[in-house]
Amino acid sequence: MSRTRTPVVTGWFGGEGDDFRLLGTRCSACAAVFFPREDVLCRDPACPGGELTEVPLSRRGRVWSYSDSRYRPPPPYVSDPELVWSPYALAAVELEAEGIVVLGQTVPGVTVADLAVGMEMEVVPGVLNEDTETVWTTWHWRPTGVTA
Ligand SMILES: [Zn+2]
Repeated sequence: MSRTRTPVVTGWFGGEGDDFRLLGTRCSACAAVFFPREDVLCRDPACPGGELTEVPLSRRGRVWSYSDSRYRPPPPYVSDPELVWSPYALAAVELEAEGIVVLGQTVPGVTVADLAVGMEMEVVPGVLNEDTETVWTTWHWRPTGVTA
């Protein structure tokens, strides 16, 4: 039986392989870009307010900060309490063109020991969790040059 691949959040990312992108929105009045996407009102209080349209974000950015998660987060984080917790690394990656920082888990196997501020990262499709019917998809940050 094949399981369905379902985004863990609808509308925040899309595309496959090299076309995979995070999806933000841009204000037509002040050109600010938002991620997570803002679809109602521009968040800049000084902006008269423009139309918010979806924009794919840059695929690459640079590590602004990073940390690791050494404990099991409480629900709604999904994890099997029967399994040993394995820490994962979190990277805050600055997208220069958009002027924003986007947080995300790194690809499996990349730990804080592999990260440094300023390192170039690229966004890739990832899996947050799997059950018998569904593969819940998300985005991961991967150091550029790492292909595994
Ligand atoms: Zn605006």
